[in-house]
Amino acid sequence: MLAVMNPHRREFLRSLAAGTAAFGLSRSAFADATPAASKLTDKLTLITGAGNNVVALAGDGGTLLVDCGDAAHAQDVLKLAGNVKTVINTHFHLESTGGNDVMAKAGAKLVSHVNTGLWMTQEVIRDFEKKVFPPRAKEAVPAETFYTTEKATFGGEPIEYGLMPMAHTDGDIYVHFQKSNVLVAGDVVQPGRLPMLEWFTGGWIGGMQEAHRTLLRLADDNTKIVPASGPVLTKSEVQANLDVLTKVREQLVKLLKQGMGAQNMIDAKAMKDFEGQLSGDPEVFIYTAYRGLWAHVRELGGIV
Ligand SMILES: [Zn+2]
Repeated sequence: MLAVMNPHRREFLRSLAAGTAAFGLSRSAFADATPAASKLTDKLTLITGAGNNVVALAGDGGTLLVDCGDAAHAQDVLKLAGNVKTVINTHFHLESTGGNDVMAKAGAKLVSHVNTGLWMTQEVIRDFEKKVFPPRAKEAVPAETFYTTEKATFGGEPIEYGLMPMAHTDGDIYVHFQKSNVLVAGDVVQPGRLPMLEWFTGGWIGGMQEAHRTLLRLADDNTKIVPASGPVLTKSEVQANLDVLTKVREQLVKLLKQGMGAQNMIDAKAMKDFEGQLSGDPEVFIYTAYRGLWAHVRELGGIV
């Protein structure tokens, strides 16, 4: 049974307090990684080891970053990136935006989807991980937000960025460097893993599939697709990940239509066919995926 499913906040906070020791350990393990930069193209650099992947575009007199890594590595990212003028956040998670405070203090303009900015002003309770995230400092919240798509130019490079609705969260965006043929995908592509679907912010597996389709439309066979975590991908690798995701969805919907709830699916080991192919905790995945499916049950054609 999953203790994290307790819907009562007080109970939840009590179990959270009990779990902090283990959480503290994993955080310090993270902080030991050393950020490193490698070239994606002439103008674009990938910074790894700073939480989630960071992509840096060198321009005249400064740098534009897509995401800026976690708080623990913000100074390292700043050193590697130089004079950061602009940071575009792909979504609100701390692995991607924890460095916002430092970047803003260094003079950077912060940009995100409007929902990403809104989540940063809220306390976020992630029940499936027993974590509570306090609202972000005011300077860490992007001042420039948008709803659908935007275009910009930086250092002579045209940039298009746009919303992929209700996928991993409700504020996921891609950032497309068209001339350099690099597409930053954020956390909507999580290859080799059971995806983290933040159901309470609107994330669900159907939105993840749609986000993959958006990326596939924008990419060609030479596009470098950069996920929030893990190595750079090709279009065919994103297609392969969509195919797996589709099979996962079919499996869950089949069981949902048999009347199963999340706990039934966990007990039935609904993800056993994907073991070895997809890492991650199947119980947490089923719990979050189920919540998201239930929110979209009409689109699935009902239950009975
Ligand atoms: Zn994320």
